[in-house]
Amino acid sequence: DLTLIPILGDQLSLTISSLHGADPATTRVLMLELADETTYVRHHKQKIAYILSAMRHHAALLRDSGWTVDYVTLDDPENSGSSTGEIARAVARLNPDRIVVTEAGEWRVQAMLEAWETLFGIPVEIRPDDRFLASHAEFAAWAEGRKALRMEYFYRDMRRKTGLLMEGDKPIGGQWNFDHDNRKPAKADSAMPRPLAFAPDTVTQDVLALVAKRFADHPGTLAPFGWAVTHHDALRQQTHFLDHALAKFGDYQDAMLTGEPHLWHSILSPYLNAGLLDPLALCRAVAERYAAGKVPLNAAEGFIRQIIGWREYVRGIYWREGPDYVDRNFLEARRPLPAFYWTGETDMHCMAEAIGQTLSNAHAHHIQRLMITGNFALLIGADPKAVHQWYLEIYIDAYEWVELPNTLGMSQFADGGLLGSKPYASSGAYIDRMSDYCRSCRYDVKQRIGPDACPFNALYWDFLARNEDKLGRNQRLAMPYRNWAKMDDGVKQDLRASANAFLDTLDADG
Ligand code: FAD
Ligand code: SF4
Repeated sequence: DLTLIPILGDQLSLTISSLHGADPATTRVLMLELADETTYVRHHKQKIAYILSAMRHHAALLRDSGWTVDYVTLDDPENSGSSTGEIARAVARLNPDRIVVTEAGEWRVQAMLEAWETLFGIPVEIRPDDRFLASHAEFAAWAEGRKALRMEYFYRDMRRKTGLLMEGDKPIGGQWNFDHDNRKPAKADSAMPRPLAFAPDTVTQDVLALVAKRFADHPGTLAPFGWAVTHHDALRQQTHFLDHALAKFGDYQDAMLTGEPHLWHSILSPYLNAGLLDPLALCRAVAERYAAGKVPLNAAEGFIRQIIGWREYVRGIYWREGPDYVDRNFLEARRPLPAFYWTGETDMHCMAEAIGQTLSNAHAHHIQRLMITGNFALLIGADPKAVHQWYLEIYIDAYEWVELPNTLGMSQFADGGLLGSKPYASSGAYIDRMSDYCRSCRYDVKQRIGPDACPFNALYWDFLARNEDKLGRNQRLAMPYRNWAKMDDGVKQDLRASANAFLDTLDADG
């Protein structure tokens, strides 16, 4: 009597649901490094290295905890490269009586799991992923019958469900959300916290050599590689964040500074998404810091909202909307993504910073993803599917369930307002307010037209004008559309001509 339990690359939790109740004596855990998964999009080199190294370390931890693990490496000559091929080999080799697996994090892989029972002729039990607070059924029940879905109301339910920052049925501090305290620009500060950097051990060094050889043509650089690849080190980074950065997380959540890729962000997303850290345990630790008087409420609430609010909410949307969510293109945007998204070579200083650090770290913080690279792609009318593919490839924390709704929905408004109530479009003024980028840019953020004007300015008005039939009735855009209507026709024409001249240069660069 043998149970085969495949553990996928983002299921690196000792308490993953597929292992619940299993007997190590009659269980074989299977872990697979699959060529298909490393190349179905051209992932950033550090992303591949991080996942492979974390998988190898996790296999060792599982063995130390008493499990028997079959592990197939990427360079094993027998490795067929596909999950179906490798499960078929394992079934032939081990002759299991059943397969138990935790559900996948994306439609593409879930469809593969669902095909196994028919393909292999043995029972396959697919279990819910209980690392998330809301099951698919719970999210569907919450969303059912609502005219519009808004994160804020879902988030309040998650606060009630977990009791995080609650006094009975009331939110601590008398309000649910302290975001209005959280929009401060930051100044360069030598005491700014830095995330820990972990020196690669021999396991990671092997993986780095493998990735350097095999994925040389993938985007991004491999060094310096400082990511945690074990539960132990991920927890050290968690504690480091709680001790040094959390207190100011709220205040500076939207700030951006030249040469400072991390600011007061946690840099924990890769660990949460792969399973090295437990999201609820992290939120409880944050609430404890608040209760102990170590961090202010706007920081604790703001951070917890990102995890039990946004992170859960986008996952709910992803599974509720189905596998064709990826094809939505409400604004009918068709432009290819400019080549400098893969090189960072542009005179726009904000873009060069956000892309440059992405290529060297496989990470950028939220406001860079949303208001720099995302905003620019939205304004130029980039094809949302191309934008989605870029974000999926380039970020170390990118898995489709979380990346797609953030990119296609929140950032590109390609779902027509399902996820967010208005497009995150802005001119250079916002970037100037929240960063120091404009001070060292060859463009002038105060100018709207002409060769030295910040391109975001004319592009912003051109975006509104171009999409007026689709966005003109959006209540939250009433003010900018009124401002547009009040402009002289000559000014309008100059703005649109300036935007179009800039867009032509993008097309010429291909
Ligand atoms: P912090 O700022 O410290 O936030 C703490 C945690 O909250 C994060 O680790 C993350 O788990 C969670 N969180 C915060 N915002 C979001 C959000 N909008 N959606 C889901 N979780 C959130 N996040 C990913 O994990 N994977 C992605 O592929 C991804 N793609 C994105 C694409 C776009 C266009 C945008 C605008 C955002 C995307 N995000 C994604 C959300 C967010 O930018 C990252 O979670 C965050 O920058 C990770 O860095 P951090 O751990 O330092 O986050
Ligand atoms: Fe970016 Fe415009 Fe500022 Fe330059 S001037 S950094 S392009 S917002």
